[in-house]
Amino acid sequence: MRRAIYPGSFDPTTNGHLDVISRAVKMFDEVVVAVAPNSQKISLFTVEERMAMLRAHTTQYSTVRVSHLDGLLVDYAQSQGAVAIVRGLRAVSDFEFEFQMALMNRKLAADVETIFLMPKEDYTYLSSRIVKEIARLGGDVAAFVPGPVKEALVRKFASLKSEA
Ligand code: ADP
Repeated sequence: MRRAIYPGSFDPTTNGHLDVISRAVKMFDEVVVAVAPNSQKISLFTVEERMAMLRAHTTQYSTVRVSHLDGLLVDYAQSQGAVAIVRGLRAVSDFEFEFQMALMNRKLAADVETIFLMPKEDYTYLSSRIVKEIARLGGDVAAFVPGPVKEALVRKFASLKSEA
């Protein structure tokens, strides 16, 4: 059983994330998509909301499991018996951070490999951060996220506005 962990903030799920998942399922017997907290980012959606979005858009894959992780990624990967960590590589700008993380994770757990997958070119400029920024300013994000995620963004920003 070759299991991989695909960790990320997924705040929210974008077509780029789904593209990476579609590639990973071809390579592994099981892909655990794990919502991880990111101390550098304030999240818009709760962990539960992010997991629900990922689940809703991966139902076509019987080998994808959506979960969340709290501690160290390599500890989680080992506890799951995973052989690999999957990360998406969009552009050179991702490389330095990802390279550092991959080598650090290898130091911490030599038996877990990091695999980088490149998305379709159309998604190389796409990030959750940019999608949130466009949606916050009232732009249309239909080309970047699944329909229900777009609706969730509209609802979230409307509720934040009414609270303010
Ligand atoms: P972001 O907030 O930048 O979308 P995440 O933490 O949710 O980042 O990303 C999780 C993983 O998915 C990371 O490996 C990231 O590089 C990758 N990823 C995010 N967006 C894309 C995309 N458009 N194409 C390929 N990989 C992506």
